[in-house]
Amino acid sequence: MLAPQDLEYRPSSMTLFQYPKDRHRRTLNPRQFKRYRTYKRYLQVEFKRVCVYCRQPDSSAPNLNFGVDHYRPKSVPRFKSLVCEYQNLYYCCGGCNTRKNDYWPIDDAKGPFIVAPCEHEMAAHLRFNSKSGRIEARSIHGAHTEDLLQLNDEALVSYRLGALKIVDSLRRVMSEAESLMKKLEAKYRLGEITSKEIDEARDEHFEELNQLRTLLDAHEGSSPTKPIPKSRLGVAL
Ligand SMILES: [Zn+2]
Repeated sequence: MLAPQDLEYRPSSMTLFQYPKDRHRRTLNPRQFKRYRTYKRYLQVEFKRVCVYCRQPDSSAPNLNFGVDHYRPKSVPRFKSLVCEYQNLYYCCGGCNTRKNDYWPIDDAKGPFIVAPCEHEMAAHLRFNSKSGRIEARSIHGAHTEDLLQLNDEALVSYRLGALKIVDSLRRVMSEAESLMKKLEAKYRLGEITSKEIDEARDEHFEELNQLRTLLDAHEGSSPTKPIPKSRLGVAL
C-alpha cells in the first residue's frame, strides 16, 4: 500500500521512449545460472522494465511477451560460451527479439551493429521524436537497428503516440484532483466544511490518486517490480 506522499502529483519526467544518453553500467551481479531464462527477472530490474531496443515498457499491456535477448547470438558457434553470461543478456520485447534473431555483423570491426545500452551510447544513435512517435536514426548503426528491428512499424508508432496522450491525460487529471483537494483543505481550515466531510474527501482523493498512479506507472513503465526471489521451494536460486 502506498503512503499519501507517494501519490502526490509529480511533474512529467518525459522519459517515456527516450534513449539513455550514457552507456549503461550494470548494477546487478547475479550468480551463474544454468538456464539463461533465470536471468530474466534480474534483467527486468536492471533495465527498468523497458525493452532496451524499442523502449516499450513491459507493463504497458498485459500480454506482452518480454524475454532474454542474447546480444551476441547463441546460435553463432564462437559465442556459445556466452549463452548464460549476464553481460551478454538484455531485457527485450518479443517483437524486437524475433526481429533481431541471430543477427551479428559479418565484420566485427566494421558492423553495422545493433545498438545496445551497455555497448553504445544509445542517444547518439537513436532518438525518439515525441511529436511524430517515430524513432530517428542518428548514425549508420542507428539506421541499421531501426531498419532491422522495424522500430517505426506503423502499429508501434501509433501505440507510442497513444501512450504519450494517455500519460499526459493522467497527469492532468492528477493535477486537477490535487488542486481540488487543496481548495477543500482551505475550506476546512476556514470552517466552511466539517471534519467528517474533509475526511471523506481525503479518502476519496487517496483512492482516486492511487488508481491514477497505478495506471500512470503501468504506461510509463515505472510499476514496482516484485523482489527478486532468493529461493524457490527451499532451494537457493
Ligand atoms: Zn522492443
